[in-house]
Amino acid sequence: MLKLATVPSVSSMRDKPSQPPSRSQLLDKAPDNASVQHANSLAARIDALLPQTQCARCGYPGCRPYAEALANGSADINQCPPGGEATIEALAALLGVATKPLNPANGVEAAIFSVALIAEQDCIGCFKCVLACPVDAIVGAPKLMHTVIAAQCSSCDLCLPVCPVDCITMIPRSNALPEPSVMAPRWRSLFDAQQQRRARDEAALESARRQQRVDALKTRASDINIQASIERARARRSIKPAS
Ligand code: SF4
Ligand code: SF4
Ligand code: SF4
Repeated sequence: MLKLATVPSVSSMRDKPSQPPSRSQLLDKAPDNASVQHANSLAARIDALLPQTQCARCGYPGCRPYAEALANGSADINQCPPGGEATIEALAALLGVATKPLNPANGVEAAIFSVALIAEQDCIGCFKCVLACPVDAIVGAPKLMHTVIAAQCSSCDLCLPVCPVDCITMIPRSNALPEPSVMAPRWRSLFDAQQQRRARDEAALESARRQQRVDALKTRASDINIQASIERARARRSIKPAS
């Protein structure tokens, strides 16, 4: 495991008085811009060495999240099966650590040699594979037949387990397609664009949910005001004028 940051031991933390830290102490401990920039640039350099299939076999949702975990010392260099030994060696050289075998918990070394193919006559158009594909390599609309753009397929296999009718198989990658190393920057930008799009969709959904809650509260407040007015009017009517 990489150790890029020193974490205080539990016992050393226990020995300290339990006074809350002052604002200036907190500001002293906050990472400065320079260290944030360093971590970002290290993550970018690590990311440049990764295959970009976005297959998640490393245990992270994509290559960049794995690169960020490596940059902050919370991941190891031997977790990428598509990259295999070559990637482990490149990461070890960049980070100045010893090489080690691929961690079997992440799978076996798997060169990028295949692409997905949908048996279109069996496809029921459920759209699940589109949602699973990290590089937008599947086109189709709900309830319509789907198909794979072979050149864009990164061989991640993520569409296979989600298909309810098992109509997706992996077939050998044609030599006519661009080399995976040529495709890597495209896969990276497709994945990044998808992440940003999903974050925007999620933010819009959250905003709509929030507005619904606000509207419901306003309606409730208005109902309470109307009810209070009705009760005041009834009370006035029930008071008999003094004769
Ligand atoms: S290629 Fe797959 S296993 Fe390797 S870093 Fe990218 S997402 Fe992780
Ligand atoms: S089509 Fe399937 S195997 Fe190809 S990139 Fe998309 S999810 Fe991965
Ligand atoms: S998951 Fe399978 S059935 Fe559903 S749209 Fe994709 S290929 Fe068709």
